[in-house]
Amino acid sequence: MADQLSGLLFPRSVAVIGASGKPGKIGHALFSNVVTSFSGPVYAVNPGHDELLGRPCVPTIAALPEPVDLAVIIIPAQLVPDALEACGAGGIRNAIVISGGFKEVGADGAEREGKLVEIASRHSMRLLGPNCLGLISTQVGLNATFAPRGAREGEIAFISQSGAFCTAVLDWAWKGHVGFSHFISLGNKAVLSEEDFLTAFADDPRTRVIVAYLEGIADGQRFLKTARAVTPQKPVVIIKTGRGEAGARAVSSHTGTMAGSDEAYEAAFRQAGVIRAQNVEELFDFAYLLARQPLPKGRRVGIVTNAGGPGVMATDAAEREGLEIARFTEPTARSLAERMPAAASIYNPVDILGDARADRYRDAVNLVAADPNVDMIVALSAPVAILTYAELGTILADVHREHGKPVTCSFMVGEIGEEADAVLRDAGIPSAFDPARAVRALAGLVRYADVRGTPHKDQRTHPVDREGAASLLRAAARKDRVRLGVEAMDLLEAYGIPVARGGIARSAEDVEPLLQALGEELVLKVVSPEMSHKSDVGGVRVGIPAERAAEEAWQMLHMARERFPEMPIDGVLVQERVPPGREVIVGMVRDPTFGPLIMFGLGGVHVEVMGDVAFAVAPLVEGEAEALIRRIRAYPILRGVRGQPGVDINALVEVVERLAQLAMDFPHLLELEANPIICYPDRVVAVDLRLTVSGEDG
Ligand code: ADP
Ligand code: MG
Repeated sequence: MADQLSGLLFPRSVAVIGASGKPGKIGHALFSNVVTSFSGPVYAVNPGHDELLGRPCVPTIAALPEPVDLAVIIIPAQLVPDALEACGAGGIRNAIVISGGFKEVGADGAEREGKLVEIASRHSMRLLGPNCLGLISTQVGLNATFAPRGAREGEIAFISQSGAFCTAVLDWAWKGHVGFSHFISLGNKAVLSEEDFLTAFADDPRTRVIVAYLEGIADGQRFLKTARAVTPQKPVVIIKTGRGEAGARAVSSHTGTMAGSDEAYEAAFRQAGVIRAQNVEELFDFAYLLARQPLPKGRRVGIVTNAGGPGVMATDAAEREGLEIARFTEPTARSLAERMPAAASIYNPVDILGDARADRYRDAVNLVAADPNVDMIVALSAPVAILTYAELGTILADVHREHGKPVTCSFMVGEIGEEADAVLRDAGIPSAFDPARAVRALAGLVRYADVRGTPHKDQRTHPVDREGAASLLRAAARKDRVRLGVEAMDLLEAYGIPVARGGIARSAEDVEPLLQALGEELVLKVVSPEMSHKSDVGGVRVGIPAERAAEEAWQMLHMARERFPEMPIDGVLVQERVPPGREVIVGMVRDPTFGPLIMFGLGGVHVEVMGDVAFAVAPLVEGEAEALIRRIRAYPILRGVRGQPGVDINALVEVVERLAQLAMDFPHLLELEANPIICYPDRVVAVDLRLTVSGEDG
């Protein structure tokens, strides 16, 4: 894909269709950006001129003297399809459509955009946009945007779904001396989307960090797959805004109710190793450090300060961010005790006191940075008249260079700190007013170090009876059923998920033959797929002696038909009564973006009350099911606490994986929920099931 996009990202010649010589027009702003930034051949296409801004101008695309690497189209929307067609016919394989007036304006526009997709596909063209700001490639010096200013050269590849955010970031970046390898405005993503650029930048030697602002992802499964492949090579930092389309999904289960629109994004980003930024500040704090500093070997932070307050703020932030406050080794503690005044705190955070001059600061930071128990350093300083920030900046730059560990700093000052800016910038050390921010930035590095440290894992596929499951679902479809309940327990069985034994009785007479092999005590459940919480309406009876089963089953049927005359009541499930155990829920709801979203949590009838659930997007690679299970708060209870035996986690992991596999294999399963699965130290067993299938497919 990197090769495929090279003509777009590193073009050797460019034509601007709709270039204008009139200042104030976007076609002029863009063309003059291209002309002033790019050293290769540039052509204008505009019927009114022979020459524009000193470059050759031809009346039509067909009249271009060579098939340029890249066409930038900036003409009224109605004319764009023909222009793109002409580009394709003329052998141009890369195009940017800047013009708006497509999908974003409604049905007409969407149809027009459809034409662009068709043309691009017919001519095998890479198309960026439409409705975008364009792109910048600092390596070839090209600024093909209409932004007021281009970008500084650097190591961050930036992808944005919002054009306005692009111009804002460009301007801000000049002030903050942040540089870019590429700057991409995605626009409507008609053809090329974030995934294409993620892949391309993973292979781009100048790009060290990929940063994206996204409002939505069109194909979640493709994103997950791509990002999974890219993040082990390069850090990907994303800010995702906008609300998901939760309304579009069917919701009739606990899983559906509890899966907010953001859960799938959160899960997918985590699984893909994407570092999610909560806000714009974090986005660039993470990007800056990832571009400029080495990864820490662990999560232990050493803090040096000349005042107590900032040290406390940094310590709090470190705890919040999941970092550890380093415990210094014996020699470090001894040296600090020798070299620092008696009143100083030689434990982490090291407080060297307000009367510290540069030499004491240097000593302390050096000792801390040299300690093998310290993975990264936060240097803090409140303003004091005996210490200049220029000195401090130099000290930190030296320490960073000598010890090769990540360093961030917070000088809790305004203007007087600026004298350190240049030296810190050269060293790649960010400086923040807020000590917590200096710590948070480091947490971004740690998150990526974790991603890098995770070995590649493949999806685990279990042997299942796929054909058996398919025929069960076909049988349900023949009955026009979109919802199924306990009568579909065989589906779980087909996928190797252990279920309680039982059978369905349609009348009292049916009960007797079912009783053998089900034990002394039974559970009876009304079989009615529309009944969502059976026990709420007396539809579950637990602990019925075998000899009373026929009688009670008949009563239940009678009661249910009387109370719910409008509901189909198919019979009564006579089920073995399994012993009490820990009840968990494993559910799946199909997210409109990512597809099968798996939920795990403490189950039973109180799922929503407990709210202790976690999510993951299928397919699950090895280790993810277990990670999912570990993420719930009650995990220690499942693992076993205070002499109480834990449950069979391996069996549970397998259930989650098999259910994820079922969800992947049958896309028309919209929702599925096994609740509860009852867990014991040596096994787990499902006793209830609900699922929804889409009416379309069988
Ligand atoms: P619903 O969720 O529709 O109310 P369930 O089948 O989940 O119905 O049953 C409700 C509760 O009854 C379960 O959470 C569990 O505590 C208990 N239960 C259900 N089936 C069995 C069984 N076979 N053995 C023991 N307890 C059961
Ligand atoms: Mg249930």
